[in-house]
Amino acid sequence: MTQGHEASGTIVELGAGVTGWKEGDRVIPSAGRPCLKCRKCRRGAFTDCLSLNLMAFAYDGAWAEYHVAQASGMTKIPDNVPMDQAALLADAVSTPYAAVVRTGKVHMGNAVAVWGVGGVGTHLVQLAKLAGGVPSSPLTSTTQSSSAPSDSVPITPCAATTLSSCRRSRTSPTAA
Ligand SMILES: [Zn+2]
Repeated sequence: MTQGHEASGTIVELGAGVTGWKEGDRVIPSAGRPCLKCRKCRRGAFTDCLSLNLMAFAYDGAWAEYHVAQASGMTKIPDNVPMDQAALLADAVSTPYAAVVRTGKVHMGNAVAVWGVGGVGTHLVQLAKLAGGVPSSPLTSTTQSSSAPSDSVPITPCAATTLSSCRRSRTSPTAA
C-alpha cells in the first residue's frame, strides 16, 4: 500500500469521459473516496458517506511520482497557493475545519479544548480562533512544545474523561 493521503499535484492525463479538468491544472485529490453504496451516497451526499474509503488505507496513496485520482473529488489550487501548502488542505486543514464549523459550530467566545496539538490540532487551534473561539490545549507552560501555536492557552491536564468533569476537578482539587 502506497502511503500519502495529503497531496497536491498537476494533472498529466485525463481519464475517459472526465470533463471540467485539463492537463496542467493544479489540484488537490480528496483524501477519501465515497463508497457510492450507502444511504448518504445514494442521496448524493458524498461528503457524508457512511463508509468512506481513505486514501493510503483503502487504496494507494499519493506518496509516488504519479497517482490516479477520482475527478469528482479534486479541488483546484489557486495560482497564489504553493503546492506544498495546498497538500495540507486535504486533511490537516479540512478535518479541523469541519470539526470547528460543522460539528462544534464554534462561534464567538466559545471555549475550545484541543487535545493533541499535532498537524490537525495546530490547524484546529487557528481555525477555532478565526471562528471567534478561545482555544486551549492540555499542556502546561513548561511542557508546551515549540510546535504548539503561540496563541493557544495552556490548561492543566487532568485524568477526567469529559470536559465538564475536568472543569470540576480544576475548580475543586478534592473532587475526582
Ligand atoms: Zn457512502
